[in-house]
Amino acid sequence: MTDKNSIQNDSPKRTKLRKIGVFTSGGDAPGMNAAIRAVTRAAIANKLKVVGIRRGYQGMIEGDFVPMKSADVSGIIQLGGTILRTARSNEFRTSEGRQKAWQQLQKAGIDAVVVIGGDGSFTGALTMSQEYNISFVGIPATIDNDMYGTDYTIGYETALNSVVCAVDKIRDTAVSHGRIFIVEVMGREAGLLALNSGIACGAEVILIPESKEQHDELKRFLEKGYKNRDRSGIIMVAEGDEPGGALNIAEQVRKEHPDLDVRVSILGHIQRGGSPTANDRVNATKMGVAAVDALLDDQKSIMIGLDNGKIVQVPFNKAVKLNHSIDCNLLDIQKMLNI
Ligand code: ATP
Repeated sequence: MTDKNSIQNDSPKRTKLRKIGVFTSGGDAPGMNAAIRAVTRAAIANKLKVVGIRRGYQGMIEGDFVPMKSADVSGIIQLGGTILRTARSNEFRTSEGRQKAWQQLQKAGIDAVVVIGGDGSFTGALTMSQEYNISFVGIPATIDNDMYGTDYTIGYETALNSVVCAVDKIRDTAVSHGRIFIVEVMGREAGLLALNSGIACGAEVILIPESKEQHDELKRFLEKGYKNRDRSGIIMVAEGDEPGGALNIAEQVRKEHPDLDVRVSILGHIQRGGSPTANDRVNATKMGVAAVDALLDDQKSIMIGLDNGKIVQVPFNKAVKLNHSIDCNLLDIQKMLNI
């Protein structure tokens, strides 16, 4: 007997599928287009029809579907954003919304769907697949890189490089004027982007939601280390850090150290866009092909992940419930080198 939730690669059933849907959901991430391209072409290579679902779950509810041919994904591998567009849909969170979405999928003859997005998008897919007979396979695409079960999410590396480029420029001004810059990067619940960009930029302090001790580091830096140095510095903060992001931290620092020239730079949406790095394109391509393969093997409710460069399949219920752990050794390294 086959357990549909289990992962089985040894007895593929490559007969049932006729038409698959593909869509992007949640925040856009560079490399989503490379994934759409890989899914579309891998499906066509396997004699499947492909339908692009525009504007995430909202487009699914509204039947905003477009047929996808190989030529439709020409020249997109290098583009940021998503040609299928994306959305956040409150209606899909309701059972009525999901019923409408199911009716649209049925009307279009879509048997299975590849969802490219983050944990919210996978939670939606899991919920719908428990209510209706439809298979979803997920490709993790979020600049936060916070999904359990994969070393890598599409878009993270491009976003990391964008942050590093921006902070290098801010550093020039910080040093020239003798200023402290508090730089806020994206990451409501995850500090990986702040942590790695902070390391890459030689930030003096890194504040992330996963470690409260870093606030003592900030105090130490401002009270001791700072006096002996050239009166400039970069403090990287993830937007989800407890005291409430860069503006609140700046206010506190100014109160305690009115002599310091403190500036804030919130990088914002500059982190999301742009042409994906080579790695983002390669990984999106590998994951896109693996997602189609998984659907052909009759998998459902799984996320494609990468574990030390190898493709793995992770059940949605694990990917969305468990947390991606952060390498706190990097904070120790940062502390040690910051003398
Ligand atoms: P990002 O990491 O970029 O924010 P995400 O996929 O986590 O990406 P969300 O906004 O959390 O982005 O989720 C995308 C969409 O998935 C939501 O707008 C909603 O339509 C759907 N969704 C999220 N959570 C649920 C849920 N619990 N039930 C049903 N649908 C959900």
